[in-house]
Amino acid sequence: MNDESKVLILGGGISGLSTAWFLHRRGVAVEVLDVGARPGGSIRTSLRQGYLVEHGPNSTLQKPGGKDDALGRMVDDLEIGGRLIEAAPAGAKRYVMREGRLHPLPASPLTFLTTPIFSPLAKLRLPREIVTGWVDHEESIADFVRRRLGRDFLTYAIEPFISGVFAGDPEQLSIQAAVPRIYGLEQQYGTLIVAAIMEGKAAKAMGSPSGRLVTFDEGMEVLPATIAEKLPSGTVRGGTEVIGLRPGEGGIWHAHWRTAQGESGVSSARRVVLALPALAAASVLFPVAPAASQALSSLAYAPIASVALGYSRDRIAHPLDGFGFLLPRKEKIRLLGALFSSSLFPDRAQAHKVLLTAFIGGAMDPSALNLPDERLIGQVHEDVARCLGIQGEPEFVRLTRYQRAIPQYHLGHLARIEALDRALEPFPGLHTRANWRDGISVSQCVRNGELLAKRLTGEEEEEEHSA
Ligand SMILES: Cc1cc2nc3c(=O)[nH]c(=O)nc-3n(C[C@H](O)[C@H](O)[C@H](O)COP(=O)(O)OP(=O)(O)OC[C@H]3O[C@@H](n4cnc5c(N)ncnc54)[C@H](O)[C@@H]3O)c2cc1C
Repeated sequence: MNDESKVLILGGGISGLSTAWFLHRRGVAVEVLDVGARPGGSIRTSLRQGYLVEHGPNSTLQKPGGKDDALGRMVDDLEIGGRLIEAAPAGAKRYVMREGRLHPLPASPLTFLTTPIFSPLAKLRLPREIVTGWVDHEESIADFVRRRLGRDFLTYAIEPFISGVFAGDPEQLSIQAAVPRIYGLEQQYGTLIVAAIMEGKAAKAMGSPSGRLVTFDEGMEVLPATIAEKLPSGTVRGGTEVIGLRPGEGGIWHAHWRTAQGESGVSSARRVVLALPALAAASVLFPVAPAASQALSSLAYAPIASVALGYSRDRIAHPLDGFGFLLPRKEKIRLLGALFSSSLFPDRAQAHKVLLTAFIGGAMDPSALNLPDERLIGQVHEDVARCLGIQGEPEFVRLTRYQRAIPQYHLGHLARIEALDRALEPFPGLHTRANWRDGISVSQCVRNGELLAKRLTGEEEEEEHSA
């Protein structure tokens, strides 16, 4: 491949692959190096004993048709629109536990008034949100929520939601970095209640749904597998570990790699995208840009274990009519929560069977990952059984451990990313694109891949000039 125009991408998770795809569609030659045996990084699906198991993401949120819908554009481009499946409508219902019982989160003002999830005092306090003032410093999610909505909302809505998305600790996560949309609503409207009303009205007026949960007929892995398959043959080199990056003559970069079979080699290009997990990117950058490497090594991750559990439907008392359930820490149950995977996507299990995907660990209980397999699975089953009223043992179990699952956008995260970008300024050929910056969900990684492809092809500037 021609080193002059080619873009070399280190890391073949969805961030690296979507950058590769959007560049390829703009006529740019790409090469992707990934240490994994199969493309996709955290995205992995397997079919065992009739259960379609997602080891990583189970679905992702698509905002169809809009400017941000890079996922929709990519799916169309890859010609897999017919394989996209939307979650069943029941998925809108989410359960949260309070005082040992699961209750659906309120979906309307009336159910808000009657739900036992929030105390009468917390409901009475809510209108005060409208007159709550701003603060002029970076705030943790916990401080932001306590200030605006009160402690009960933090305990029973936000903290479990944050564990569901980030497996994180709201006392440490930055509102500005982790949920910039919510912070932006405060900036724009001054109050979240008014923002919710106005945004709801605007979405209705434009006829645009706020988003839909999607996956593919054979699971999330369809996405990275199809990208790798449709890129020109030899573009994605699996089983290839990048062990160093060195500057060469005339602005060319050389990535040194080795394979498990003992082969080694060098791939070169003028432009390189680091789409690696933060520590791997830090290690590759260390000899070249130590300050950038330092900023990356300071990024924290939360560990998580995902346990797929299969049961006969008649063993479970709960109707399983929703997305799943979340457990506030105050309920003193070790499990973080579970998805009703086969209620969301019915073909995930055979008739009369149920697939649940449960999570344990996270930033607030990292030691759960130290449990040996049998004890960890036993704990998860025991907790799920207690929440859902399950009789007997699961007939199917699959455990996946991630010691470094989800990057944590802690207080100071944006400053760390700024320090990283500053440290890379002397190297205009080096770019970064991964879930440790600008959003962690699959659809955000795809959108960010498209943005980088536009920037590298000068399209972004053209758009700005014509706007
Ligand atoms: C358990 C779990 C559940 C999740 N659930 C959801 C969900 O429901 N919805 C959602 O939208 N998102 C979810 N996410 C988040 C989302 O899946 C990830 O943020 C996203 O897939 C990350 O993509 P990435 O390419 O940035 O990183 P990764 O997927 O981590 O990709 C990095 C790649 O770099 C490669 N690599 C590492 N070191 C080297 C090296 N030295 N040389 C070459 N290659 C290397 C790895 O093999 C990997 O392929 C979940 C994540 C996890 C872990």
